[in-house]
Amino acid sequence: MKGLSQQASLHLLLIASMMLSILLESQIYQEHHLLYVQTLSFGFALAMVHRFGFHAIFPCTLGFYLGLSWLVAIPQQQSIAYTLCLTVSLIICLLTYQNLNRFLHPQQSATLQRFAFNSVLVAPLVITLITSVLFRLEWLDTQSPLLTSTIHVTMGALAGVMLITLPLHSFSLQAVINCDHSKLLVGALLVLVCLAESSWLQLSPFPGVFVIPPLLTMIWLGTNTNLACTSLLSTAYSLAVLKWQTLSLYVPGDALLHEIADWAYVCGLQAIVLYVAMRNDKAKLLIEKLSASVDASALGVWDWQLATQQISVNSHWNSMLGRAPSQTEWHRDTIRALIHPDDADKLDTFYQQLKQGEERFNLQARLQHQDGSWHTFQIFGAVVQRNMQGDPIRICGTQIDITEQVSDRAFVNSLKLAFENATGGLMVVKNDAQFTVLYANQAIANLTGFWLEELINQPCWLFDAEVAMLSDRQLLAIRNGQSIEVTQKSVKKCGRAYWANIIIEPIQHTQPQFSEFLLHLRDVTEERKANLLAEQHTARLQHLVSQAPGAMFELQLSGDGQFIFNYCSEGMSALFGLTPSQLQLDSRLLFNAIHPDDTQRLREGIYQARRSMNVWRQEFKVIRPTDGWREAHASPVLQDDGNVLWYGFFADITIRKSLENAVRTVANQLQLAQQHARIGYWSMDTARQEIYWSDIIFQFIGRAPEAQAFSLSKFYSLVMHQDLHQVQQVFSQAARRGSVDVEYRIQRSDGKVIWLHQFGDCPQQQSDDKQIQGMIQDITQRKTLELKLSTQALTDELTGIANRRAFITQLEQEWQLFLRDPQLHISIIILDIDYFKKVNDQHGHDTGDAMLQHVTKLISEHIRSSDTFGRLGGEEFAILTRNANAQQASQLADKLRMHIETTPLHVTKKLQIAVTMSFGVAQFTQPDDSGKWEATDMLFAADKALYHAKNNGRNQVCLFDWSSANGSDSSK
Ligand code: GH3
Ligand code: MG
Ligand code: MG
Repeated sequence: MKGLSQQASLHLLLIASMMLSILLESQIYQEHHLLYVQTLSFGFALAMVHRFGFHAIFPCTLGFYLGLSWLVAIPQQQSIAYTLCLTVSLIICLLTYQNLNRFLHPQQSATLQRFAFNSVLVAPLVITLITSVLFRLEWLDTQSPLLTSTIHVTMGALAGVMLITLPLHSFSLQAVINCDHSKLLVGALLVLVCLAESSWLQLSPFPGVFVIPPLLTMIWLGTNTNLACTSLLSTAYSLAVLKWQTLSLYVPGDALLHEIADWAYVCGLQAIVLYVAMRNDKAKLLIEKLSASVDASALGVWDWQLATQQISVNSHWNSMLGRAPSQTEWHRDTIRALIHPDDADKLDTFYQQLKQGEERFNLQARLQHQDGSWHTFQIFGAVVQRNMQGDPIRICGTQIDITEQVSDRAFVNSLKLAFENATGGLMVVKNDAQFTVLYANQAIANLTGFWLEELINQPCWLFDAEVAMLSDRQLLAIRNGQSIEVTQKSVKKCGRAYWANIIIEPIQHTQPQFSEFLLHLRDVTEERKANLLAEQHTARLQHLVSQAPGAMFELQLSGDGQFIFNYCSEGMSALFGLTPSQLQLDSRLLFNAIHPDDTQRLREGIYQARRSMNVWRQEFKVIRPTDGWREAHASPVLQDDGNVLWYGFFADITIRKSLENAVRTVANQLQLAQQHARIGYWSMDTARQEIYWSDIIFQFIGRAPEAQAFSLSKFYSLVMHQDLHQVQQVFSQAARRGSVDVEYRIQRSDGKVIWLHQFGDCPQQQSDDKQIQGMIQDITQRKTLELKLSTQALTDELTGIANRRAFITQLEQEWQLFLRDPQLHISIIILDIDYFKKVNDQHGHDTGDAMLQHVTKLISEHIRSSDTFGRLGGEEFAILTRNANAQQASQLADKLRMHIETTPLHVTKKLQIAVTMSFGVAQFTQPDDSGKWEATDMLFAADKALYHAKNNGRNQVCLFDWSSANGSDSSK
């Protein structure tokens, strides 16, 4: 039994039980009419189960059973009472049928009604009525052989036809011809059953007529048709055999008539079997054609048994999902696992709709291919079988893979969207005589101001001869399938002019002759304006660049050290003898023009600038087109890709270089001259109070040169304090006077003091902010000489103290001071060595000189620095002492006198010479008749006092007495 479907097993079970029942009843009751009814009911039950499921078996079988019992019982019992009883039963059957409707689906009830009416009511009633009327009401002469024979033949054929037709009626042709694997086994079983029955019922003397043909027919059907069909036929056959026995129970007549009736019955049976076989053949042919079509169409076909959830599919169905074609059985759950999660609900929805009575469905769903991709399928299906509740129990259908179409459609949709929403105007124009517009997008309408309705299906205005947008040559080119682009002035619907850019391209289909153009229209008015402006700018720029001296360039320096001239102006030819195109082609050519001494330096300069990203500025020599100097100047701009673009220029600096050289030479010469002349340049910004000195001035003062100007206060800090006041005066008046001329001292860094003479004036006198320029000369030498000379003039050579002239000058100054302020106490002391002549005479003139120096030293040690000490001549000296009256001066003189007296001159170790000195003192006095007296009168007064000291015995101090105007001795 392995391999048989559940359905086939059920059939077998039914057949077996039917057979058993038949055999048992025939054995026990020996009532053949009961067997007849029983068998027919089983057959009917089988048909009902097959068609409607088990729910229909009870009411239908009951009705049929009662009907047939009535049919058989009436002629058997020949009793009105029994007939009435059966009629009541029939009414019950009818009521049952009425109730049956309630169990059935509304749509199914019509079929069932028709079936029930035909098979359950009409046939038994007709047969019963005919039989009753003919036999029991004795309207017919049963003794008439002709009539009886006719009735027998008719009844036999009618029964044969009816017995086969009624159950068959309940099967769809599809169910009948739908073969399965169990048919061989069934066929074999049937043969066994038939043979058993034949032998048991002892069918001779006509085994050939009654057994063989139907047996062969059933074997043929069993192997070629399906279980349902063969089950029915086997039932029919069993009944036929039984009828042979049961017919004699109620049909009178001789053996010949029986034979004729049986023969007619078998003929009827055969006719139906043949009919079914022919239908089967035709159906099989149809199925072959259908399956060939299905195969050819690559349709996926499926058959879904909802009771078992088994789904049978064809090989196409499998290959659509990349599965092995041999797998013909699927389960609902395995399919469900393949459905796209988003589509799972769709199936449930459709199933609900089918349950509610929908017969067909059409559904789009995605299933997963073996390779993991999702394929979209269009699934068509229909309910082919429902149960008593009307729920679908079998759904069949087809499906096709529409993945490509879906994606094509999606592509077409996006193309359509792109076309409609393109910012540029797009049109498809037919290649006909009028250039009819087939499609146009909204942008075209916006651009031209026309409604789309005014454009589509109308001749395209661009090709209008009056508009004359395109020349004849362009039109010809378009007709020849060439693409063209035109920018032309056009006019909008509102009359406004604009510049239109039109690109026309043929749409090339597979056939050589194209039928449409794609036309792309853009308003380029603004673009054109911008382009024109840009062109003007470019032209202007190019003109400027060509007029500018030198050459401009854009140099690209890549990360790997390569450099390329992205642009260089025409000036390169004059500068390097290389055209811009030559250099753009090979930038290394530039180095051919550069002097070999400078190529390496230039290269390094570029890379150095690249590294530091600073401005690249270099001067270098060239040898082409002629010897000269060039300057490169460029600024770097780092690009996103890591490259560096250098924007800059090359300039011819040959003349500048030669001028620079000349200037340098002159400067050097000047420097040399300045150094020799010890003269430097200075300038002062009087407004900013800043001074600038040339380097040589810093050299004078032994300091590092300062390139920048420095403040006036810094300058003052350098000047020595003795001269500062004078210098400050000069510079504070410099702006006003517009000139400077001053001599001052500065202490050098090495401690030496130098004299500088600074002089200069303003070149222009207009502005208050004056720039005074001039020279500073180192006059130390001259100054030293001058000082030496002046010192010599005022100093006594032997003693180093002031000479007479100097002393007198000082005396004059002090006298003037005194005249201004007579309260000042100023005194004069004159002193003279006593008997100095003797020193000379005894020890020589040199010793005399030494004595003079000795005395000078002794006096210098004892007077204040504010006092003036001078040698008036010979061995006569004088002292001017401030803040000292006559008394104080006399005391000083006496102190000096004693000091000299007690301090002899050590000529040799043995020889010591002591001297004394006489002093005359006079205090400055302003007599009443002032104005007549002079400074020398003071000297004279002191001299007078000295004279007295000499005369009074020497080695003493004598004070001049102004009251007597005579000197008086103030004693020793
Ligand atoms: P008295 O006490 O009266 O001043 O006597 P005296 O000798 O000092 O004075 P006198 O005027 O007679 O002599 C001055 C001498 O000084 C004369 C001269 O030879 C000497 N004399 C003058 N100048 C110098 C000098 O520069 N060097 C030396 N060695 N002697 C000088
Ligand atoms: Mg003397
Ligand atoms: Mg003297």
